[in-house]
Amino acid sequence: MELAAIDHADRVRRVRRDLDVDALLVTDLTDVRWLTGFTGSNGWVVVTDDDLVLGTDGRYAERAGAETAGSGASVVAETSRPRLHERLVDQLRPAARVGLDPHGTSHAAWTQLAADVALVATPSPLRSMRIVKDAAEVGRISAAAAAADAALAEVEPMLFAAVDHPLTEHDVRTELEYRMRRHGADDRSYDTIVASGPDHAARPHHEASRRRIVEGDTVVIDVGALVDGYHSDMTRSYVIGEPTAEQRETYALVEAAHAAGVAALRAGIPACELDRTCRDVFDRAGRADEFLHGTGHGVGLDIHEVPFHSPASDDVIPAGCVVTVEPGLYRVGFGGVRIEDLLVVTDNGSEPLTHTVPRPFPT
Ligand code: ZN
Ligand code: ZN
Repeated sequence: MELAAIDHADRVRRVRRDLDVDALLVTDLTDVRWLTGFTGSNGWVVVTDDDLVLGTDGRYAERAGAETAGSGASVVAETSRPRLHERLVDQLRPAARVGLDPHGTSHAAWTQLAADVALVATPSPLRSMRIVKDAAEVGRISAAAAAADAALAEVEPMLFAAVDHPLTEHDVRTELEYRMRRHGADDRSYDTIVASGPDHAARPHHEASRRRIVEGDTVVIDVGALVDGYHSDMTRSYVIGEPTAEQRETYALVEAAHAAGVAALRAGIPACELDRTCRDVFDRAGRADEFLHGTGHGVGLDIHEVPFHSPASDDVIPAGCVVTVEPGLYRVGFGGVRIEDLLVVTDNGSEPLTHTVPRPFPT
């Protein structure tokens, strides 16, 4: 699988263009990766008009140089923590105004730094830049989604055969995760959810267990892959054996809410409005209280990132954003149904990145 190169130098140029402080300190590791390509678990970046410096600890010295070559960063690596902090202060002291996002900075870290440098609370400009994905990013998310599609296509027949050949939730999870890697994923995107039966399927974030999947169960499978740091996210729901009238009705309602959400999705829609579109479908059926979460979220280098489609959200969904639409209904004693797709937003609508055709019932 050939992945298009990511143009980190262009990102640095865009951050500089919008810089309204003398130096910007970036400490969020996902922001650091997005800007420079550095994937280590400890690092900061300082951006000024004519400098880009990545600081990290000694373990990462060589790797940081290799990974950030495209961004033009110079690397500062120190094995001692106090020494690395001194190097950061050296970088920042000459700046009259140093921008730092207070979200994601501990009070202790802020206080320590503020003793030596002129900190200004600045919302991270990278947050709004990261929300729009370029073609290289969509390519990675799309490759991750394709790995999950391919794995699920192989596992579905096992699931339907579970009436005669019992499987546990763990079995299904393990098959999916192994097969995603076989189909090009570096890893799973998150702990694969396989939630079955009257209790487990009623929990939106159930972790797979040793429970045996049996006839009459609803099964919710939420599966995503990771490719070069980028996530995918998809949910399909199933009924094992002949579905009951209530299972069919619940599935049809979730399907209608999902379709309404996908139809409403386009550039410029407020995330709370997308949420309301799906919620209204459940509301009209008198079942809004069984929808236990928001309608979706952005996906990129983080599995859950802005925009968040919830009733209280202020986010607006721009073109080029990659988001999920994932309504569901859950009730203890019944189980659950969720349908989740991953889509890239366009001016007039959206294009799906997940392609598994929903096949909830055995044919
Ligand atoms: Zn999901
Ligand atoms: Zn999701």
